[in-house]
Amino acid sequence: MTQKKSLVLVLNCGSSSVKGAVIDCVTGAVLFSCLAEKLNLPDAFITIKDGDNKEVVDLSHKAHHTGAIEAMMEALKKRGLDKQIGAVGHRIVHGGEHFKESTIVNEDVVDNIQKCITLAPLHNPAHLLGISAAQNVFHHIPHVVVFDTAFHQTMPDYAYTYAIPHELYQELGLRRYGAHGTSCRYVAGEASRMLDRPLKDLALVIAHLGNGASITAVEGGKVKDTSMGLTPLEGLVMGTRCGDIDASVFSFLHEQKGWGIGKITEILNKKSGMLGISGVSNDYRVVEESAHTGNHRSELALEVFGYRLAKYIAAMTVAAGRLDALIFTGGIGENSKSMRENVMNKLGFLGLYIDDQLNAEMRFGKSGIISRSKAPLAMVIPTNEELMIAQDAARLTGLID
Ligand code: AMP
Repeated sequence: MTQKKSLVLVLNCGSSSVKGAVIDCVTGAVLFSCLAEKLNLPDAFITIKDGDNKEVVDLSHKAHHTGAIEAMMEALKKRGLDKQIGAVGHRIVHGGEHFKESTIVNEDVVDNIQKCITLAPLHNPAHLLGISAAQNVFHHIPHVVVFDTAFHQTMPDYAYTYAIPHELYQELGLRRYGAHGTSCRYVAGEASRMLDRPLKDLALVIAHLGNGASITAVEGGKVKDTSMGLTPLEGLVMGTRCGDIDASVFSFLHEQKGWGIGKITEILNKKSGMLGISGVSNDYRVVEESAHTGNHRSELALEVFGYRLAKYIAAMTVAAGRLDALIFTGGIGENSKSMRENVMNKLGFLGLYIDDQLNAEMRFGKSGIISRSKAPLAMVIPTNEELMIAQDAARLTGLID
């Protein structure tokens, strides 16, 4: 990489929040970060952080996306950072089948993000608001969009096709899309670098385990299958999402409880998963602590999480064709040694055996191998979606080669 101007502003715009970070795409350093919250409410505010300093600015007089990004610009100017930023990178949740890679924003791109709104009705409209606001404030530099779904677009049709009338796919695009694609792409690249083997020679199973959790098979640098589906609801047990479930629960709950589609959807997305089983929390750490005190429902939640994950790792090994490395990432994957031990203990038949000492070491940002087995390997690699977005933006706009 030859360096020209290496700072990128990475934006993640939600309907009531804007998260921003200024990232040096060469060193990965985060020089500035901020989070605007409660947009469209009277008590909107933005928290600005650089190093150990934290400043909270009232946004009540301009409680909208443009107001938040203007406040961000002011803070950047104060710190002399505004002129050093060469591009803006936007995280976009859904790019449908249209976007197979990151791209520079133009009218056509905006139109096509708009067309994907049916697939991400909560997220894409907020991203569009964010793009428009950011283009008004940062009008002097190019903007790039990076899609959570794009990396998964290499998935073969037999993996993304649901066994429903095919016309529904043709008419509505009803298929598996997956999420966490930017994280998977970053982690796969890191695995290749750490193992000093080209991506095209590697078969990886990547378990991204955070509050949202998914697992992806990557072979030869291409996604072969992923556990999230049309939406992030499918697949693994998550903080508040149920993951795989018989679709008949909708009619069952409707008949038994009289609940409508909206209520059942909310229960499966917001009240299920670790929270639903344990009744204690969606936060894995809190559920672990509660299980240590003998709470049976918390113990059960950990077992259901670990069992589903192990089952999926085996399934994704089929998708990858073989397994060179199983990779743990995301808040739980990067930090919970007991989860990794529990899951690996179920996977001896794949030749995966945990090294207790290495497993205890690879936490809190440390990356490395945690298996006794040399093939396949198990590894911990902290993810960095923001750096990936910054690097895509920098590369596409010619800031780096
Ligand atoms: P993320 O969505 O990637 O930020 O991950 C959030 C999840 O990571 C939460 O469920 C946290 O409880 C979990 N997590 C973070 N640190 C730890 C830890 N030290 N041990 C277990 N789980 C953790």
